[in-house]
Amino acid sequence: MSRTDDHQKSCRLTQAVQGELKREYESDLVGQLRGSGNTITRGEITIRLAEAFGFCWGVDRAVSAAHEARRRFPDRQIWITNEIIHNPLVNEKLRKLAIKFVDISQDGYKDFSEISASHVVIVPAFGASVQEMQLLEQIGCQIVDTTCPWVSRVWQRVNKYKQQGFTAIIHGKYKHEETVATASRAENYLIIQNLDEAEWVCSYILGSSSKKEFLRKFTLAYSHGFDPDLHLNRLGITNQTTMLKGETERIGALFQQTLLKRYGQDSLSQHFLSPGDTICDATQERQDAMIKLVAENLDLILVIGGYNSSNTGHLFDIAAGISLPSYHIDGQSCIGPGNRISHKSVGKPAEQTTEPWLPAGTLTIGITSGASTPDQVVAGVIENIFAIRAGR
Ligand code: SF4
Repeated sequence: MSRTDDHQKSCRLTQAVQGELKREYESDLVGQLRGSGNTITRGEITIRLAEAFGFCWGVDRAVSAAHEARRRFPDRQIWITNEIIHNPLVNEKLRKLAIKFVDISQDGYKDFSEISASHVVIVPAFGASVQEMQLLEQIGCQIVDTTCPWVSRVWQRVNKYKQQGFTAIIHGKYKHEETVATASRAENYLIIQNLDEAEWVCSYILGSSSKKEFLRKFTLAYSHGFDPDLHLNRLGITNQTTMLKGETERIGALFQQTLLKRYGQDSLSQHFLSPGDTICDATQERQDAMIKLVAENLDLILVIGGYNSSNTGHLFDIAAGISLPSYHIDGQSCIGPGNRISHKSVGKPAEQTTEPWLPAGTLTIGITSGASTPDQVVAGVIENIFAIRAGR
């Protein structure tokens, strides 16, 4: 086949996949909303959508690559090393394309034993650890790597820390695939989940706690052989791309001040490397839009996205920070039947049900969705809300 034939085939594939993605994930209702100031009113209910919400560029790219892989390799077994993104509907649609997910045990062990050289393996937008990539290369399967370039950017930073002999302080969740993949690229690392943990570590640096206590408190969050008395002397900050930007900045500033106190201004550059900007644009835009939305005159707030989606969780943290009823739901089926909502609340790990949740009278409802939530899900939620009021 000539290169031109190849190119034409590839263009046809891309067009076909674009049509498929439009059908599967987009929504006319949300399209209209985007074109009319992100507001829709029916009867007594007004919906205000955040200025930026839903699928980000990196997720769009990963989902397209998965659909395209199915068309390119119609007869081959396709695997994904993890959920391609944290959205139940998207992952369900991929299962319907006969794409299998690699089994993961409770303790995070992945079973690659069924993958063979003739199979195709998709690496999700969060990326994969160095060890997983090596294993896949040894198997000799076809790898479709959809790692988001924003994630790769963090890896470059961690690599720089490694080359310069700095420990990577990673602001993230130690079980999250992206953070696992990032940590695997560091020589020495410590994963910090939030400002409280950062304060604890900074107090340790200034001599407040015992090593034993440190190692117990951060078990599972540091590199093999980590010694806090040796490895907290030269620190570079980085993060999971979907954390709250303001928190990463505060954590970075705290470590900077701590090392300044300990080593003095003249040698600070030998002990501290600042984080740079590694929160991705999409996360930032959605967080900024959420901060703007919650400042409006709303009656309640809905945040839509997978319960295990980090960026959705942080949008919900913003909503939960104000005194309005706010609900994190993972899809259309969370609304109803009747005036019922199944949702998560801050500080409560399990899903709960609230009934009735939609008060009577005129209401303005603010809605946003995480970077892995298709527009069709947002549209379904809006339709279900209108249906409650219509008594359907
Ligand atoms: S949220 Fe950001 S880092 Fe994650 S896939 Fe989207 S663009 Fe990439």
